Amino acid sequence: MYTNILRHPGPTPIPQKVQLAMAHDIYSHRSGEFVELYRETTKRLKPLFGTKQDILLLPSGGTAALEAAAINTVSSGEDVVVITVGAFGDYFVGICEKYGFNVHKLAIEWGEACTEEALVEFLKPLNSIKAVFATYNETSTGIINPIEKLAKVVRTQTDALFIVDGVSCVGGAPAEMDEWGIDILVTGSQKAMMLPPGLSFVSVSERAWKAIENNKTPSYYLNLSSYRNWAEKGMTPNTPAITLIYGLAAVLDLIEEEGYEQTIARHALMKDMVRAAMRSLGIGLLTSDEYASPTITTILTPEGLDLGDYLGHLKNEYHLDFAGGLGHLQGKVFRFGHMGYCFPSDILEAVSLMEAGLQDFNYSFESGAGIKAAQDVFLSRKKR
Ligand SMILES: *Cc1c(COP(=O)(O)O)cnc(C)c1O
Repeated sequence: MYTNILRHPGPTPIPQKVQLAMAHDIYSHRSGEFVELYRETTKRLKPLFGTKQDILLLPSGGTAALEAAAINTVSSGEDVVVITVGAFGDYFVGICEKYGFNVHKLAIEWGEACTEEALVEFLKPLNSIKAVFATYNETSTGIINPIEKLAKVVRTQTDALFIVDGVSCVGGAPAEMDEWGIDILVTGSQKAMMLPPGLSFVSVSERAWKAIENNKTPSYYLNLSSYRNWAEKGMTPNTPAITLIYGLAAVLDLIEEEGYEQTIARHALMKDMVRAAMRSLGIGLLTSDEYASPTITTILTPEGLDLGDYLGHLKNEYHLDFAGGLGHLQGKVFRFGHMGYCFPSDILEAVSLMEAGLQDFNYSFESGAGIKAAQDVFLSRKKR
């Protein structure tokens, strides 16, 4: 079988250098070799989070890291606000409800971002809110929330902690946790971090550590204080995803080699290429340019096509693998992931194969228009 051209918003392709790094001999997580690896990788992660705080490594998917962020800071019966703009925002709602937090849900229509005005209004009648939860980049709709502005609202209007799910964008979108005033920022390995699933990352502010010390919700495997105590020794409380941490060192090599700023700029460029291509093909986009995600673009079903047939054909005929829509968007949109190990050349490839698929279905468009539009964006950006 040929390689799958995986253009999903996670899991995402893994660079060969990272694959090879994961073939490293295994060492015990109590060995000097591991301590060195742990200390080095967690230090080098800091610029991706924009923090001076430690980055804790959990041997888990992103959802467990979200759960850890919630249950370590908030106790049952306390009031929280959850901003949800799509399926992943609803994860925080689900977690908070399960643990008996008193949830005030700010639900925004799918495809829209939460604006600072919306949050200001929502917070006005509320008091003694313990934490505000938000998704930075909503993977189900392809929007990126104005998280810096939302952080400012939370900071000025409340004493609440601001807890952010950055799973589908840290590494592909700017994150300045300390400067913006984010209290907990979480991400996972299999999105923009170019790793297999199974490792998650949590960074915690000093304010949040204080709340964690006074928190009453019990936790064992996801107890962040325990991760913090072990981190002082350069270790994790239990056996971590050692192999993935070897891969992480190689990921950091690649990001440092490209330059962190450049990595972020590449993601923005790919977003603009995809959007220009779709417009030239007469295909609609779910989101406005203003809040369009740099890591994933949500595309409306091309007119007159059955989405299942089209995506199936792209996969079977051209090995191009897109993700479908979630929830009520199923059948109406598909999702083009462009995060992590993805370059402008990959966008040109995917757009070209999309066009081939459109021709096979006799969709009416000017052949090559999408490729040209994407390439024009690419060339104009290069000249600057
Ligand atoms: C993928 C994703 C998650 C969940 O991560 P898992 O590793 O699947 O548990 C949470 N939030 C966002 C925004 C995501 O994209």
